[in-house]
Amino acid sequence: MTAITNHLPTAELQALDAAHHMHPFTANGELAEKGVRVITRASGVTLTDSEGHEILDAMAGLWCVNIGYGRDELADVAARQMRELPYYNTFFQTTHAPAIALAAKIAELAPEGLNHVFFAGSGSEANDTNIRMVRHYWAMKGKPTKSVIISRKNGYHGSSVGSGSLGGMTAMHEQGGLPIPDIHHINQPNWWAEGGDTNPEDFGLARAQELEKAILELGEDRVAAFIAEPVQGAGGVIVPPATYWPEIQRICDKYEILLIADEVICGFGRTGNWFGSQTMGIRPDIMTIAKGLSSGYAPIGGSIVSDEIASVIGSGEFNHGYTYSGHPVASAVALENLRILEEENIIGHVQDVAAPYLKEQWEALADHPLVGEAKIVGMMGSIALTPNKETRATFAAAGGTVGYICRERCFANNLVMRHVGDRMIISPPLVITTDEIDMLISRARRSLDECYAALKEQDLLHSA
Ligand SMILES: *Cc1c(COP(=O)(O)O)cnc(C)c1O
Repeated sequence: MTAITNHLPTAELQALDAAHHMHPFTANGELAEKGVRVITRASGVTLTDSEGHEILDAMAGLWCVNIGYGRDELADVAARQMRELPYYNTFFQTTHAPAIALAAKIAELAPEGLNHVFFAGSGSEANDTNIRMVRHYWAMKGKPTKSVIISRKNGYHGSSVGSGSLGGMTAMHEQGGLPIPDIHHINQPNWWAEGGDTNPEDFGLARAQELEKAILELGEDRVAAFIAEPVQGAGGVIVPPATYWPEIQRICDKYEILLIADEVICGFGRTGNWFGSQTMGIRPDIMTIAKGLSSGYAPIGGSIVSDEIASVIGSGEFNHGYTYSGHPVASAVALENLRILEEENIIGHVQDVAAPYLKEQWEALADHPLVGEAKIVGMMGSIALTPNKETRATFAAAGGTVGYICRERCFANNLVMRHVGDRMIISPPLVITTDEIDMLISRARRSLDECYAALKEQDLLHSA
């Protein structure tokens, strides 16, 4: 076979992809018919595809390219590390400088009391670590019955058997026999979709109090931990009412339930602070990290663990780990990414420039006839598409039909904006400039207009 490169005609790449490549979260048969889009290069916030389209990536890849594409420093660090020490494990009483330096740096950046890092290759793996770690922690403390982890419907924590069970995605649970035992799901703080006549503050409080109800029903002696994303990402960028997190924190404290903040999206500047927990004012015992940790330049994740848990776990052997825990090349790349985030004051750019500007433009989209609520925290935003703003109605068409039409209009207008059902979401690189935000918003508006016209034409503007 000749080498497969970007220089092959698009149709040839598509045919080979369709023949051999199974895509995640994709109906592969349908995609093969349609023809996949081939991304060839990227720089800053812009992707280029094999047909020469230049596309503004308002999703930062998959929520991860926080520093933007095309930073040579990371490539140089990776090459240097590969030449010096491409791999060594951290299992058998050995270590190496990249893992040491990254763990120390993460401990420095993390909130007080979180000073220990268990590395993984991804967010899913890190959450699998968390399941075993919190259960083992309570067993070591002489409370082996504390094994239930409470999480939320429509939360996302990864796609492995463990992390997919923690997540509350019914479409995932339906395939492959999930969830595993002792995972309990409570309702999400999604006021737009589920708040009914309650005001957002009361609703947020009520949803948080479901945690207390669950603890009392299950029994305090059965519950190990509560896990949640500070702001739900894959569930549709659901921003909880301000009343939600303080009540969750109160309940975790009262019943001594470990709080795991899944910071895989929220971490490393996304919400305008180093961690979403700081934005939401919570004090987790464990934080899950991945994605923005390396800005996606290398696969790496981990758990940032409290002094207390690390000391209990460390008093014996924890029979757990991954071949690539603390992988030297991924660690070196992540460390360089953190250096750039810090030295270039990218979180300052988010706080002072990008987030306030984006917020103003994004919330103004709510004047569009198709848009119900427009929510945003830092650099993650969502809009709810609706046929009726007053009643917060859903469309009569199957959920996601309208969102998909809108997403296709975005692609046609050289904008990557994702849909989750009939919510449109963005999570652009943190380095995005105000000019690029203008471009993002004008393309989004044009796409919404075209979507609205298409819905009229196809008679899809009816409420369920
Ligand atoms: C993406 C994501 C994960 C899973 O990370 P992977 O690297 O895809 O395994 C876990 N939690 C959250 C909140 C995520 O967004």
